[in-house]
Amino acid sequence: MDTVEKIFSCTRCGYCCHGETTVSLDKDDQTRMVEVLGEEREVVEKTFWRVTAGVVQMKVTDGHCIFFDDGCKVHKGRPWRCAQWPLHPSILIDENNFHSIAESCPGIKVEVGYAEFCRVLKGLMAKSKISC
Ligand code: SF4
Ligand code: SF4
Repeated sequence: MDTVEKIFSCTRCGYCCHGETTVSLDKDDQTRMVEVLGEEREVVEKTFWRVTAGVVQMKVTDGHCIFFDDGCKVHKGRPWRCAQWPLHPSILIDENNFHSIAESCPGIKVEVGYAEFCRVLKGLMAKSKISC
């Protein structure tokens, strides 16, 4: 049976958690993160979020998401966009997306080859066995 490890293994390089902004959190993300952190929403918002014109993102410290410290410190409560990375469905649509994501993520096993990568990814998506 194919497993995620056949096509992806996170090196914890942190590239996807670095930058001057982070992904945004939708309402479900916000609720989940508050629950996982076990704090009042107001505390989570003040401590961890940057809210700009109604858009909620995570704060950035030292050029990376506030939760990044040799891995994600809010793994179970991370936003869905974080959970989806790097096995994004756009890979299945265009090989260029596969290569461009692989350039940003050393965990992608390009040596598997595009066709085989897509076959495994489709199977995992169908079984909802994708998690980073
Ligand atoms: S998902 Fe990719 S870019 Fe992000 S930490 Fe893992 S290997 Fe690095
Ligand atoms: S929530 Fe976790 S996975 Fe998402 S950017 Fe922050 S540290 Fe990275």
